[in-house]
Amino acid sequence: MIEFKSATKVYHSGGKEVRALDGIDLRVEQGEICGVIGFSGAGKSTLIRTVNRLERLSSGKVIVDGQDLMALSPKDVREVKRKIGMVFQHFNLLNSKTVFANVAMPLILAKQSKAEIQKRVTELLSFVGLEDKANQYPDQLSGGQKQRVGIARALATQPSILLCDEATSALDPQTTGSILKLLKKINREYNITILMITHEMSVIREVCDRVAVIEGGKIIESGSVFDVFSSP
Ligand code: ADP
Ligand code: ADP
Repeated sequence: MIEFKSATKVYHSGGKEVRALDGIDLRVEQGEICGVIGFSGAGKSTLIRTVNRLERLSSGKVIVDGQDLMALSPKDVREVKRKIGMVFQHFNLLNSKTVFANVAMPLILAKQSKAEIQKRVTELLSFVGLEDKANQYPDQLSGGQKQRVGIARALATQPSILLCDEATSALDPQTTGSILKLLKKINREYNITILMITHEMSVIREVCDRVAVIEGGKIIESGSVFDVFSSP
């Protein structure tokens, strides 16, 4: 479960204040797919980045599985971050490493044994349908395949939460459809909570249970996808 309480983030740039998040209240229940939609500059990236502490809030709270992220010690923050996987728009793969090594990275950082890593990475690559690509390099893959590697990496440490930052925005419509199907399968099979940000309504309609609309750092509307998008 993820909960934002009066979450506020103010950037100071060039002597000016930018309220990227302006008192966000939002609850994402365990096991649901929640989408946050808004135009460029609305605050989407900032919102998602506060959940794994890539950004700190200026005030307010982000609570993950009952723990207030802003109040935790660095050690406890590392624990919580292990429960959170992140999928990026531009995949963020290491191009000098093989597919296997990219997926193995979080497991190496978590100091798992070679045998465990071998087993887990093989499992993950099979889950995302890339068992035959283990020894290839990202440059040899299509965009959709790269995102599958990104998703496998995000799942490596068995997170309970998956954060998707415009995960399909760099993909063509057909590939987008197959990646969204994969995300839905992850949600259903592993009961992983998914928070996704996007500027595309079609993405929300396709997979989300609930949606929040963000504008100028504020949630201006939220509810079931049906209620929010079918109002006259
Ligand atoms: P979105 O993801 O919806 O495009 P962002 O969260 O990236 O929105 O940005 C929200 C607002 O915060 C924008 O006005 C943006 O210019 C500003 N902003 C984002 N990051 C920074 C930063 N590091 N320094 C200053 N302003 C920033
Ligand atoms: P983007 O601008 O594409 O959204 P970010 O600025 O969010 O990328 O991330 C910056 C860098 O931090 C990325 O290159 C990524 O490799 C790394 N990074 C941050 N958090 C994570 C994470 N949870 N898993 C993997 N890589 C991460």
